[in-house]
Amino acid sequence: MEEPLYSLRMRASRDGSHLSGAERLAPSADLDSLVAAMVRRALEHPRGQAETIHLSIETVAPGRVRLARLPDLRTLAVTDFHQGRRAARELLSEAGITPESVSLAMNAIAGGAAPDGRSMRGAMLIDARTGQRLEPDHFRGIRVSRMDLTPDAEQLLRQGLRNLGLDNSHVREALVLAGKVSLAPEVLAELCWSDDPDYTAGYVATAQRGYVRFPHLKPAGDERGGRAFFVVADRIDVASLVTFLEQQVVLFDRIGKLQAERRWEG
Ligand code: AMP
Repeated sequence: MEEPLYSLRMRASRDGSHLSGAERLAPSADLDSLVAAMVRRALEHPRGQAETIHLSIETVAPGRVRLARLPDLRTLAVTDFHQGRRAARELLSEAGITPESVSLAMNAIAGGAAPDGRSMRGAMLIDARTGQRLEPDHFRGIRVSRMDLTPDAEQLLRQGLRNLGLDNSHVREALVLAGKVSLAPEVLAELCWSDDPDYTAGYVATAQRGYVRFPHLKPAGDERGGRAFFVVADRIDVASLVTFLEQQVVLFDRIGKLQAERRWEG
């Protein structure tokens, strides 16, 4: 009989605000080392030591696992975050997102998208035409979870990313998250930059272009970051999209093309 997989989720907070999170799928033999690594990560976060750490571990029924391929990845070199955001706007516009909606999303992320002006724990769901926010809880947002790489895919991905100088947990985890989001046909595009003050890179993911990284989407030292999933409000059922993003188990057993960096010609 196939060994059951466990879904392992961590989220940590400090000063009543989101600090760090992680999502993995693993067999029982790997759980203790993964838990230790997650706890360490929460305690050694660049924004400070976690005050509260929530861990949840639950088995996943084998029949519920969907296998999938990661999106292609490429990097567009930009000189600073202003140019990065211009380039991101262009890709989002190509995916059918209106300039108003992009501005609302970018301003929300840059200003702290939670109602208290800090970063949300999860993502915003934004109408691609009007920019209206559709996620039920503006503090929590939508937390994409229950996704990971198979060990073989992880090894291949790490090798490929190492050749590009990109083998770090930010890129790997964001690519897996964006990969799961891109399996939802309702989502036209995703925009993300990190809340880690030392990490200025971000990405736009669309069906047409895959995962496109920009080394600068925010100024260094800024502690605000976030994610936006763009959808067309009157064409989707929010509850079923949220159930897919939060509950569907997805294992990536194939990786996409990993392309060398090139300059953004904007
Ligand atoms: P990070 O890339 O981990 O620095 O996260 C950047 C932002 O993305 C966070 O501030 C959250 O708003 C959001 N985020 C983090 N993890 C998730 C997740 N699992 N699902 C949806 N949004 C997330």
